[in-house]
Amino acid sequence: MSGKGRTLGCRLLLLLLALLLLLGGALLAFRGEWWFPILYRLETREALSLVAASPPLSHCTLWTQEALLKQDNVRATRNLMLVNTEHPLPEGYEAELVLYRGARMHPLMRDDYIRLRDALYRETGVRIYVTSDYRTAEKQQEILDKSEAGIAAKVGCSEHEAGLALDVCAPHFGGIHFLNSIAGRMLPRICAQYGYIIRYPADKEEITGISYEPWHLRYVGRPHAALIMESGLTMEEYLEHLEVGQWYRTEEYLIARLPQDRLLIPDGWERCELSPDNMGNVTVTLRYADAQTLSDLLRNRSK
Ligand SMILES: [Zn+2]
Repeated sequence: MSGKGRTLGCRLLLLLLALLLLLGGALLAFRGEWWFPILYRLETREALSLVAASPPLSHCTLWTQEALLKQDNVRATRNLMLVNTEHPLPEGYEAELVLYRGARMHPLMRDDYIRLRDALYRETGVRIYVTSDYRTAEKQQEILDKSEAGIAAKVGCSEHEAGLALDVCAPHFGGIHFLNSIAGRMLPRICAQYGYIIRYPADKEEITGISYEPWHLRYVGRPHAALIMESGLTMEEYLEHLEVGQWYRTEEYLIARLPQDRLLIPDGWERCELSPDNMGNVTVTLRYADAQTLSDLLRNRSK
């Protein structure tokens, strides 16, 4: 090949490389909904870090819900209430609601939502906004009528009707295009620290009945959000993992799903949360002063 031919070949190669770089940059910037779910799924997930625990019976108390809820450090929540097509909201359910910048949500979610929003802003410089909050049954029906199948839940089966979910967006990036914003891609990495999960992950439609919704946040509280997001499980899979009557330990927490009429609960906790699971049981989350205090309690078993 002549010198001129080689120079032309080099120029064409450089032009091709530049075009590829431009195309790659455009994909990164404008097609986050294509590549982000694939990369996120390819990341290694930890197995669910829950260990079965057997608190000593001599250090347990049999409570009634009524008596337990009279204690100062006990909170009734709805954090772990499963809401889907198979588990609709209970008859006569009334959502407890507070307002934050016009958005209606369960009182326990608000402070954590503000913290999450501020943390995202610190990390990315992008503010997120609520696009859909609590919905009445009429509003859910209206949305269902306008949606394609698999996008919106049936009336009575939406977490929005429970007041436990928020849809969010970044400025100019709503719906699936939320993933084109850095805030949309950062959200699944930090939401669990504030008690939130991405409730409808990619590739889990068969379990949740709802297609991938990177914008739909569900509040489950700590430590459940971290356990769910780190393991990549859905809320359905997570609750199924918690065998009724069995205690599980993670860090300074003990967790159990117990029959409503048999709340046999270990002593020594600092804080206790009770939530219905909407499957006939009560989920109990006990927080101890620290991991060592809990280890000491569990070790007493062999004494
Ligand atoms: Zn939603």
